[in-house]
Amino acid sequence: MTGPIVKTERLTKRFGNTLALDGVAIEIAAGEFFALLGPSGCGKTTLLRTVAGLAQPDSGSVWIDGRQMDGVAANRRPTNMVFQNYAIFPHLDVAKNVGFGLRRLRLGKTEQDRRVGDALNMVDLDGFQAREVRTLSGGQRQRVALARALVLKPKVLLLDEPMSALDRQLRIQMQGELRNLQRAVGITFVLVTHDQQEALSLSNRVAVMFDGAIAQIGDPQEIYRMPVSRRVAEFIGAMNFLNARLLSEDRQKLRLDVQGFGQVSVPKSAKGDAAFSARLAVGVRPETLALHKGGNRMPEPCVQGQVSDVEFLGEKIAYKIGLANGAGSISASLSSSDPSAGLTVGTPVAVILNPEAVRLFPN
Ligand code: ATP
Repeated sequence: MTGPIVKTERLTKRFGNTLALDGVAIEIAAGEFFALLGPSGCGKTTLLRTVAGLAQPDSGSVWIDGRQMDGVAANRRPTNMVFQNYAIFPHLDVAKNVGFGLRRLRLGKTEQDRRVGDALNMVDLDGFQAREVRTLSGGQRQRVALARALVLKPKVLLLDEPMSALDRQLRIQMQGELRNLQRAVGITFVLVTHDQQEALSLSNRVAVMFDGAIAQIGDPQEIYRMPVSRRVAEFIGAMNFLNARLLSEDRQKLRLDVQGFGQVSVPKSAKGDAAFSARLAVGVRPETLALHKGGNRMPEPCVQGQVSDVEFLGEKIAYKIGLANGAGSISASLSSSDPSAGLTVGTPVAVILNPEAVRLFPN
């Protein structure tokens, strides 16, 4: 079995009082599309720069393709980086921008032109060689930045929020292109982003970072469905947290008394590895709740409520439901095409919990 293409061992980096990296250990396999996801200031860029050799860790090591990188300069590493602002040269044409890194390889002109042409072809910019950079659109500039990084045939491409300068529609289009590009070239991509949707939709594995440390690593579905903490759960999407008490447990099920819903049996797997006492929080994703108009009694576990807010979001509709008996409120969402959608403020509804789709956290 081949080892990881990128491995970091207990990376630590301080800036004054800020601990930007706090013992970060990750392993990325060759060919992966790996996302580093976390809020602003959590240390994502510092981690990427440390892998690239643009920042030096206070302690710990980076390994790339089985080689320890201590003391290896950035331009001697088999990595290349695409920066947030693209860092392309406005005074050079597209071909010179893309071929910039090739200069030190001292290739013949024909070979250099061929490599630049190949890289432009990869990003769908055939024939753009002579174009001045300032005449390009934002999306085209981003592709030039990608071509410039790919022309050197790195083993690992490091992308620092490469889509952040683009407007929403273009960003979605470029995300699709980036995914196709990664599949086509087979190079390992490591993408830094604070956009959970971008991380979940693009990558095959995600590392969620908070305060310089990795909180969870897993494939997108695993992170979304089985977050290890409330903080990860909230960062990765909306979640309701209902107070609950553990009543009893057997080999497969936990019997809980859940705020509003009363007694509910959930699979033991819902608690993951978390250790908690009798008091806990039940995490419920809004889209896992079912809503039934009229508020008639429904199969358990169910609670009566009334729609207190409706937010139309295009493909889905988000509802806030005030629960009966002062049990607080809960967020639910339905696909716009769901026949139950179309509820208005004030409508009485029955809210039905799916015990198979909950996650338990210490409270
Ligand atoms: P963003 O998404 O905003 O770019 P990030 O997750 O990439 O954030 P980093 O840029 O890695 O975070 O920064 C991590 C922490 O280290 C932040 O608190 C930041 O202010 C601090 N930091 C980063 N670089 C420096 C520096 N050169 N000097 C001082 N502090 C720094």
